[in-house]
Amino acid sequence: MTKLTGGTMALVTFAPMELHFGKSNEAIVSINRYLSKFGYLTKTADHTAWTQESADALRQYQLFFQLTPTGHLDLETAALMSTPRCGVPDTGPTVPPAGRESECMLRGTQTRTFFYLNFPADLHPREIQERIVNAINKWRKYLPFDIRQNSDIGTARDFWFGWTRLDHDDGSPFDGRGGILAHAFLPGSCGGRWAGQCHFDTDERWGFNHSNLGAIRDFESVALHEIGHLLGLTHSSNRDMVMASHYYMCNRRELGTEDVSRIRSLYGT
Ligand SMILES: [Zn+2]
Ligand SMILES: [Zn+2]
Repeated sequence: MTKLTGGTMALVTFAPMELHFGKSNEAIVSINRYLSKFGYLTKTADHTAWTQESADALRQYQLFFQLTPTGHLDLETAALMSTPRCGVPDTGPTVPPAGRESECMLRGTQTRTFFYLNFPADLHPREIQERIVNAINKWRKYLPFDIRQNSDIGTARDFWFGWTRLDHDDGSPFDGRGGILAHAFLPGSCGGRWAGQCHFDTDERWGFNHSNLGAIRDFESVALHEIGHLLGLTHSSNRDMVMASHYYMCNRRELGTEDVSRIRSLYGT
């Protein structure tokens, strides 16, 4: 297990291990914290030991991603948990269950607007803006409303894009390089006071070039995913979809068939 210090939530690479009820160590605390962060374990309890509840939560995680629900940290599960991902929970109180997504969607047909909270020091704002527009355009054709940039100072916007790191006071801390890359809040009661906000982790190495992969994250692929959340979509357990929870080592700048059918079904387009 490797660990980066300096964050409120350490970046952890998970290794396969035997899990026994009642056992408690740093690795188990990390697994429990991961399951809690992404909605599989209740956040209220202090999960320091491996319990029946932990094993049930791990099985729920495995089932969501179509892995064998062993309740153990096997090789496949450990690898998936170590894969960089979006910070939005897969399930839990802030995520509408399947069939009830319409509880957290944008109502009406009025034009929606977006703007930027800030830009990172090491990337060109114009490049970021182009990629955000590209990503918005992929979703826009399936929406009953338009989305435009609004640069007028002091006016209200529906969506905000910003860059931040570690704990940034919205209840969903980032974790240094790797792990969580970005997150965005769903509309309405699901996102609450943060609805419309999309944050990217400044600690990641971001890139814009299709061939520039490896440790570099493709900004446009991640933006396309996060905008799906701003519009009300939850995570998909299909790893080939833009709305998959994890960012696999590939660029994903085009919506998949399930992404399209979900956004169309949500907005009736
Ligand atoms: Zn996500
Ligand atoms: Zn945030």
